[in-house]
Amino acid sequence: MRDSPKSWMSQIVLIGLIGLPVAVALLGNFRVLGGDPPICEEAHQRPCEDLLQADIRVVVHEELSTLRAVCPHPESDACALRSASWGEAHCVIHQWAAVAEAIYEHEMNHCRGWDHDDDTAESYHRPWHVNRGLWLARGAGLYRAQK
Ligand SMILES: [Zn+2]
Repeated sequence: MRDSPKSWMSQIVLIGLIGLPVAVALLGNFRVLGGDPPICEEAHQRPCEDLLQADIRVVVHEELSTLRAVCPHPESDACALRSASWGEAHCVIHQWAAVAEAIYEHEMNHCRGWDHDDDTAESYHRPWHVNRGLWLARGAGLYRAQK
């Protein structure tokens, strides 16, 4: 017996039901590679999504001189030094003993894989973007696949 129009319809609906979650999963996995790059809004006052799942270490410096010897930016009171490769990411936060807690959260968001546009206070308040190089070196979708 030939397929009736009704059974064709149900096949299309079935493909739609299976295909839609697969497409959503793929888009979710690759949204950093294609389309609009993700942003983290209000990164200056809340944690961003942890894209790196880095192994994080904090080094507190009593003296500004030892801090500034390790941080690349000459005037910073804290910095996050990150590295990533083959499914691993590491982040070392160096901070001056006297810095405010908000600065620690700022550095934590760097450890989570995010960056601000430049080193001005205004850019800290604008949406942050993913550090794509680190994220790819970390193994891109790896984090999401394990989630
Ligand atoms: Zn920063």
